[in-house]
Amino acid sequence: MTHAQDGNTIRNSIKWAITILKRSEIEFPEIDADTLLAYVLSCDRSRLYTNPNNVIDATDICKYKELIYKRAAHVPLQYITRRAEFMSLDFVVDERVLIPRPETEILVETVLKRAEDDKFSDKRIIVMDIGTGSGNIAVSLAKFLSNAEIYTNDISQDALTLAQTNVQRHKVIDKVHLLNGDFYNIFVGNIQKKQVDFIVSNPPYISESEWNSLEPEVREHEPWEALVGGKDGFCFYRRIIMGATDWLRPGGYLIVEIGETQANTVIKLMQNELYYDEIEVIKDLQGKERIISARAK
Ligand code: SAM
Ligand code: GLN
Repeated sequence: MTHAQDGNTIRNSIKWAITILKRSEIEFPEIDADTLLAYVLSCDRSRLYTNPNNVIDATDICKYKELIYKRAAHVPLQYITRRAEFMSLDFVVDERVLIPRPETEILVETVLKRAEDDKFSDKRIIVMDIGTGSGNIAVSLAKFLSNAEIYTNDISQDALTLAQTNVQRHKVIDKVHLLNGDFYNIFVGNIQKKQVDFIVSNPPYISESEWNSLEPEVREHEPWEALVGGKDGFCFYRRIIMGATDWLRPGGYLIVEIGETQANTVIKLMQNELYYDEIEVIKDLQGKERIISARAK
């Protein structure tokens, strides 16, 4: 019998993995080594700590090594485990969609806060979400806003196929309508103009030149069309802000995520329309300007 200390114990395997990940300058080698082993063994990370001398069988070691080498090649952890948490909900993700970011939770929370207003209490709330990706924003709003109906689009059919999986997993098919096509045309015939309570979007907002300096996890693995917002990064804001005036009902809100240096320009674009008031910038947990909310007059 193999002595536990000599074999591929949990402790030894994690130690090996951390060395490999550190060599590739992975940001959180300890967390990733634990998460991937827990994934291979289909257990909680806490079980690894309580059983460090358990021996891992050959098949699982082989699988673990394969995943560690993938992570060392800068494949994002969430694409390896095919899971990402957003608003405490579990989403399926893969290379067809952007991995939901914690900052985007602030966009969802801003909508939830605005929707508490009495004017929304007894009515059906119509939400338009531009660029659904994994469906994270749409599904979260469907889960947390009982009276909401969400219309959401994507230009990528691949992304919509995955979003559909998430809509089904979270049992919100009757509240989320997935549409394949460019905005705002795709919403014509699905929603009436001047009837939308919230237009929300986390659009692609990286400029073409910034894209080159993104970390390899993002640049080499996440979809380009989910990240890049034209030459200067503002191409989607121009279209969203101008077009929203046709769709929002008076008193409705436009709420968008922005890159940390984009607030002033986006505010100017909104002011130019003479259609919005109560323009407000909301910071993320790192103190960066991240969300802009504006009310239709
Ligand atoms: N909503 C998701 C999130 O917050 O993680 C995904 C956001 S990602 C930054 C932007 C999404 O917009 C991508 O899924 C991309 O395919 C989609 N997109 C790009 N151009 C589009 C267009 N013209 N119309 C609709 N969606 C578009
Ligand atoms: N926040 C993303 C990043 O850091 C960009 C997402 C977007 O373009 N909307 O790469």
